[in-house]
Amino acid sequence: MSIWLENSAKNLLPLSVEKENFSIAIKEWFYTDELIEYEEAEEICELCEKDGLRYHFQIKNEIGNILWVGSKCIEKFGITIYDENGVEITENKEAYLINQAKKKHVKDIVLKFSNCTKAGRIKGHSLKELDEYCIRNYNSEGKFDAKMINYLFQRLENEKIRFRANCFKIDLRAEESKRMLLNLKMVQYQRIKGALSASQRKYYKENSKYFKAAEDN
Ligand SMILES: [Zn+2]
Repeated sequence: MSIWLENSAKNLLPLSVEKENFSIAIKEWFYTDELIEYEEAEEICELCEKDGLRYHFQIKNEIGNILWVGSKCIEKFGITIYDENGVEITENKEAYLINQAKKKHVKDIVLKFSNCTKAGRIKGHSLKELDEYCIRNYNSEGKFDAKMINYLFQRLENEKIRFRANCFKIDLRAEESKRMLLNLKMVQYQRIKGALSASQRKYYKENSKYFKAAEDN
């Protein structure tokens, strides 16, 4: 038996109804939708004891026992996951969990952001007004456009709120969104780059006049 399976059996069986057979016991467990993100990636999986985790996902069984585990264990052991509509996730469970964690990160950052004090103005608009616009749009759409991400990241830097750019996403399907991205100057592009996918960066490099101008200099 691998050390991974050995540790997992040792940790899971005492908390399960089934005390002997690991593959029966693991079926009692499901993901509760609770997760924790840590500042440093150094947490330990309570199932297999692997360390270096940035996220803990909570699993529970029918007798109410709980373990905080890594996304890999949920994927490898096929632990049950239901989405917010009660539909079972059967494929790419790890990707699903990481995506959930990123969404939560963005939500938490927006909440912190909405609680910070807003004195000052930009181009005739109060920060309060601009911040609220940004938050309202996020709340109705669940995403940001390139211009808003640029604004938000700048504000977060000024407010000294630590965030992970790669948790934020930009949807470029609409023409208007593409135009907004291309209109970002180099310094703005550099600021939001972490939120762009490889193909979105490529798109900017190939199409923005600001990138070309910077290259020519
Ligand atoms: Zn694990």
